[in-house]
Amino acid sequence: MKIWLNYKYYNIRRRLSALTFALFFTPMSLIVGLYFFIIYQAKVKSLEVELKFNNNLILTREADFIEKTIEKIIQDLSFLSKENELKTLINEGDFNQKNILNQESKINLIQNYQNFAQENQNYDQIRLIDLQGKEIIKVYKIGNIYLSSFDNQLDNQFKRYWFQEGLKLEQNEIFISPLDLNLKRGKVEVPFKPTIHFLSPIFNKKGQKKVFLVINYLAQDLIDNLNKINTSQGKIFLINEEGFWLKGLNKKDEWGFMFLEGQDRKFEKVFATEWQQILEQKKGNIKTDQGIFSFNQIDLSSQHLSLFNSIYSWPNDNIIIVIWMSPEILKAQVKLLFNHYFLVNLICNLIIGIISGIITFIKGEKKEIQLQLKQSEAKYRQIIETAEEGICIINKEDLITFANPKLATMLGYSLNQIIDQSFFKFVIPNYLNVLKAKFTDCLCGEKNNLELQLNCDNNERIWAIISLSPIFNLRGNYQGILAMITDISHRYQSEKELQQAKQIAEKASQVKSQFISNISHELRTPLNGILGYTQLIKNDSNLNQEQQQALNIINNCGINLLDLINDLLSLSKLDADKIKIEPSELNLIQLLTSLVKITEIKAQNQGLKFNYLPDPYLPIMIYADGKILRQILLNLLSNGIKFTPQGEVTLKIEVLSSRLISNPNSLINVEVNLRFTVQDTGIGIPFNAQKKIFLPFTQLNQNNSLTEGIGLGLTIAQKLVNLLDSEINVESSIGKGSIFWFDLKLCVINWYNDHQIIVNNLEQLAQESLEKIINPNLEQSKMMIPDQEMVKTLYDLAKKGLLDELNQTLEEIQINNSQLTPFCQEIILLIKQFKLKQIRILLNQCLCKNY
Ligand code: ADP
Repeated sequence: MKIWLNYKYYNIRRRLSALTFALFFTPMSLIVGLYFFIIYQAKVKSLEVELKFNNNLILTREADFIEKTIEKIIQDLSFLSKENELKTLINEGDFNQKNILNQESKINLIQNYQNFAQENQNYDQIRLIDLQGKEIIKVYKIGNIYLSSFDNQLDNQFKRYWFQEGLKLEQNEIFISPLDLNLKRGKVEVPFKPTIHFLSPIFNKKGQKKVFLVINYLAQDLIDNLNKINTSQGKIFLINEEGFWLKGLNKKDEWGFMFLEGQDRKFEKVFATEWQQILEQKKGNIKTDQGIFSFNQIDLSSQHLSLFNSIYSWPNDNIIIVIWMSPEILKAQVKLLFNHYFLVNLICNLIIGIISGIITFIKGEKKEIQLQLKQSEAKYRQIIETAEEGICIINKEDLITFANPKLATMLGYSLNQIIDQSFFKFVIPNYLNVLKAKFTDCLCGEKNNLELQLNCDNNERIWAIISLSPIFNLRGNYQGILAMITDISHRYQSEKELQQAKQIAEKASQVKSQFISNISHELRTPLNGILGYTQLIKNDSNLNQEQQQALNIINNCGINLLDLINDLLSLSKLDADKIKIEPSELNLIQLLTSLVKITEIKAQNQGLKFNYLPDPYLPIMIYADGKILRQILLNLLSNGIKFTPQGEVTLKIEVLSSRLISNPNSLINVEVNLRFTVQDTGIGIPFNAQKKIFLPFTQLNQNNSLTEGIGLGLTIAQKLVNLLDSEINVESSIGKGSIFWFDLKLCVINWYNDHQIIVNNLEQLAQESLEKIINPNLEQSKMMIPDQEMVKTLYDLAKKGLLDELNQTLEEIQINNSQLTPFCQEIILLIKQFKLKQIRILLNQCLCKNY
C-alpha cells in the first residue's frame, strides 16, 4: 500500500514537473521561433538588396583600381616622353645616322627604359618608333628581365591600327588602345598577353614630330585582380564594349574578337536580354530569370587629362565588369540563411529547454521543501499541542504571542485569555524580580531554568519549572523567549508527603531502637544471672553426668541467646547511627593473637584445623577502633567454623601497601593498607545468594544444617566495615568453601622491630622529602652531638612519640654536659613545636654521622 502510494505520489509529481516544464518551455520556444522566423523572412527579402549592394561595392572598388592603374601608366608615359636623353636625341641627333653621339644617346635611353621597366614590371614593351613605323628602340620583357632588341630584331609597326591612330596625334596628345591581345609579327602572341597600348608622339624643339613613344601595358594584372575578388559565389566577368568575353564563363570563348572564327563569342549570345539592359546604362543591377547581374562600364581613355591635352582611344574601347549571381546561387544563399537561423533557433531552444528544466527543478524542489515544511510544521504543531508541558512564546514586550492548549489548561484559562497577555501576570509577585532577571539573561543568549509559583484562575497556585530559551532570528536579532512550563505541584506534594513519611519512619525507627535497646538490656540482666548461676552449679561436683549435660545445654543456649541479643542490640544501634568509630592506639598483634586463641579453641572443638598467616611486616601499633575490628573478624571466623563440617579455617592478614601521608601536625605519618581474609573449606555459598547473605535475617539453611544465629552476623559486619570506608567481599563455591575479605587503610604508630628495614626506608623517604625543611645542616654544623648510645635512646623515644620522656632526657643530658646544650635546645625547640618528624630525621642523621 505504502509503495503504491509512493508510486502514485511520484507519478503526480512527475506529471506536475512535465506541466511546469511545458508551461515555461512552450511559450518561450514559440516566441523565439517566431522572432527568428520574422528575422529570417526579412533577411531573405533584404538578401537581394544586400547582394546587389555588395556587388556594387566590389565593382566600384575594381573600377577605381583600373582607373588608378591607367592613371599610373599615363604618368609613366608622360615621364618617359620628357626624358632628357630622348630630348637630346630628337633635338641634336638623327636616328638614321649611326654616329657616336646617336649611338651613345640610344644606349643611354635603352638603359633608362630597361631600368624603368624593371622597376614597374607591368610593361611588356617600351618602344621608340619613327614616323615610318620602324622601331628604333625596343625594350621587352622575358620572364622578369627586360632586354633590348638588336637592330635586326626591330619590326615595322606602320600597319598597326594604334600606329595609324598615333600619326593623327598632335603635340601633347596620347592614344590608348582598347584591351586586346598582343600581336607578334602579325600573329596573336601565345600565351595570350592581354595588352593596352599607350602611344604618344614626341616633338623636337622646332615643333616637328620626330618619334613615337609606345608602352605596352600587360593587362593580365587587371584580370588577375578580378579573379581575387570574393563575390559570395557569384561569377565575375569582363566584357568589352562590343560584348566580347575578356574574362568569361569559358576560357575558349575569351578574346573572340582577336580571331576570325571567334566573332560570335559574345556575352549576348548567352545573356541576350541582359546585354540589352546592360548597354542601356553604364552602371547598375538587373534581375532576370538568369539571376542578378551587377555591372560597371569603365572608360579607359576618358580620364586623366591633366598631363596631356587630349587622350584618344579606339571607339568602343570601354570594358564592362559584370558580377553574376545565378538563381542557384541565390537559392543556396537563402538556404544558407535558413540553415543559419534554424541553427540559432535550435540553440536558443536548447538554452530555453535548459533554463525551463532548471526552473522546473527549482520549482519542484521549492514545492517539495514547502511540502516538507508543511509536514514538519504539522508534526511540530501536533507535538506542541499534545505536549504534556505548557509551551509559549513571549515577545520582546513580555507578551504571550503563542501558547499551547496545555498551558491554558495548566493555568485554568482559555487560550484566548492567555494570548497577548503579559507573562508576568501569571507569576506570583515574590518571583517577579528573579524571573525578570532571567529574562534579561535570555537577552544575552543564556538559557535558564527556574522553579516558581504561577497564578491560576480562581486564585489557585501551581508550582512549576520554567525553562527559558532565547529566540533569535537568522540575523541574530533577539525576538523573544520560548518558555516551557512543567507543572511540578504533584512532585512538590509527593516530596512533602515523603518528608513527612520519612520523619514518621525515623521516629518509628528511633522508638524501635529504643525498644530493642531497652528490651535487650532487660533481657541481658536476667540472662547473665542464669549464665552466672549455671557456671556456679557446674562447679558442683555432686552433679551426675546427666545433670552436667543438662547444665551445659542451658549454658550453651544462654550464650547463644546472649549473642542473639547482642546482635540485635548492635543492629539497632547501627540503624540508629548510634555506633561511632572511636579510633585509638591499638596493639594489632595483641588483638589478632587473642582472636586466634579464641578461634583455635572453637576450631579444635569442631575437629577443624585453624591456620593463622600474619604478614611478616605487620605493624605492631596502629590507630584504629579495636572493638569494631574484633567484632568483624570474630563474626567472619565464627561463620567460617560454623559452616565448615571438616577441613580448615584460615585467617590471613597481608600488607598490601604503605605510604607516607602528609599531615605535618600529626605524629603519625605512615598509612598501611591491610587485607583481612577469612577462608574456609566449608559448605560454600551458591553464587546467587552471595549478595543476599549480607541482608538482615538471611540464612541459607543449606544441607539442612542447623546452625546458631539468626542471620544478623554478616549484616552487622558489613555495616561496620562500611563505617570504616570499606566493604566485605565474598568468593565461594559450593562444597569447596568460601573466602571473605576486606581491606582497611590504617594509620601506623609503630612497626615490629623486625620491620626496621621498612621503617628505615620510610624514614629515608621522609628525610628526602623534608630535607628542605630541616634547618641546620649537620654536615656543616659544628654542633656537638651526644654519643651513639644516647642518640639511639633519644631516637627510640622519638619514634614511640614519647615526647615528655624525650624532653626530660634532653634536660638531663644538658645538665650533665653543657657542650651538648645547643644540640638539646635544638630538639627541645622542635618538641615544643610538635615537629616529631624533624626530630626523628635529625636524630637519624646523628646516628648515621656517629657511624
Ligand atoms: P548467621 O547468624 O546465620 O550466621 P550470618 O549473617 O552470619 O548469620 O550469615 C548469614 C548466612 O550466610 C548464614 O546463615 C549462612 O547460610 C551463610 N554463611 C555465612 N558465612 C558462611 C560461610 N563461611 N560458609 C557458608 N555459608 C555461610
